[in-house]
Amino acid sequence: MHHDIVIIGAGIAGLSAASELARLRGTGRGICVLEAENAVAQHTSARSAQQLIPSYGPEPVLELTRWSIAALAEASADLPSPLVWPSPFVVAGSPADVAAETVPGLRRMSGTDLFALCPELRADAARYRTAAVDGAAVRSDATALLAWHRRRAESAGVAVRTGFRVTGARRAGSTWELLPAATSPGTEPDDVVRAGTVVNAAGAWAEHVGSLLGGAPQGLQPLRRTAALVRLDTAMPAEHPMVMDAAEHWYYRPDPVGAMISVGESEPSEACDAQPHPGAVERLIATIHEHTELRITGVAKAWTGLRTERASDVPVCGWDPAADGVFWLAGQGGYGFQTSAAMAAAAAEQIVTGGVGGWLTPETVAALQPERAA
Ligand SMILES: Cc1cc2nc3c(=O)[nH]c(=O)nc-3n(C[C@H](O)[C@H](O)[C@H](O)COP(=O)(O)OP(=O)(O)OC[C@H]3O[C@@H](n4cnc5c(N)ncnc54)[C@H](O)[C@@H]3O)c2cc1C
Repeated sequence: MHHDIVIIGAGIAGLSAASELARLRGTGRGICVLEAENAVAQHTSARSAQQLIPSYGPEPVLELTRWSIAALAEASADLPSPLVWPSPFVVAGSPADVAAETVPGLRRMSGTDLFALCPELRADAARYRTAAVDGAAVRSDATALLAWHRRRAESAGVAVRTGFRVTGARRAGSTWELLPAATSPGTEPDDVVRAGTVVNAAGAWAEHVGSLLGGAPQGLQPLRRTAALVRLDTAMPAEHPMVMDAAEHWYYRPDPVGAMISVGESEPSEACDAQPHPGAVERLIATIHEHTELRITGVAKAWTGLRTERASDVPVCGWDPAADGVFWLAGQGGYGFQTSAAMAAAAAEQIVTGGVGGWLTPETVAALQPERAA
């Protein structure tokens, strides 16, 4: 089967790119999303905190986030339920830590005001002497957002194919041939997918997929982070802000179940279906108990996800300098949802028109470009 564009990976990166490519081209026909698992979004995109924070991340990420929030809010106007809704974000810590972790212009808060807003913080935690509030932060429902992109893509004619793990790739003239695992060793797979352009949106596996395609190494590193949905003896109000320690040692936010909690670790890992280490969830609960008066009565769900970063902490969105027809859409780290709309739009524009217009600063466009081969 030959396609104009094949996207490898059906997480938020791959599905949002498919939906945006279909919109920009006026049709999804000729576009195929290949997903290794038997269902879409089984990996990091199913394991996030679902928060979009315009003050969180390096400068290019902040610009992509502001743009994405505005685009998702605008798209929500035509939908029965919004894709994003207000959900303030509070960073608490020493004045120096808060200043280092936040952008200028955020509303500053004294320790007294912080404890009035977040009475669950332990009053004896002397390090929380100040805070900054990002009132422009929003929450999304990852499942609903992914489903919206998929619906938008498929209704325009995009094919989403699950259960196809790309294990090899080769060039035949100007065409890429993408190969699944051979059914028996030494035989040619009978199910080769052909494409003019291949978009590498393989999340934690993007470096590996890039190497199959002969692409330039991007230094993408998957980093483990464990989180849990816990029940509380006293509910937090739904409008309570997400609260993060400025040193990113823990964070929590309200959830219909009780609270979502994490210690915010970044532990290097191979690409895999990451699972919590033994004892990790108990340690996470102990950390939250150490810093807050939240009384956790049970764990509804716990998980580990891989945030995959480049050394610059800025995602990669551009043509590979070494491999013809290979486009990188990876390295979203902890910003994959908050940058998704802008990343998808920047990817679609580069693929369809060959450039990105003036809606992103030249600095951000430059920061998104792939590393060149050594
Ligand atoms: C605990 C935690 C909290 C987070 N909180 C937030 C947050 O609040 N806000 C935010 O913006 N971001 C957050 N993130 C980050 C965000 O979840 C990720 O940046 C985002 O999900 C990455 O999406 P992706 O599509 O690149 O990767 P994935 O969702 O992992 O998708 C990649 C897909 O590629 C497929 N694939 C891989 N190799 C192949 C192959 N060879 N052939 C075919 N398919 C293949 C995989 O099966 C997978 O489905 C968080 C992450 C974690 C772990």
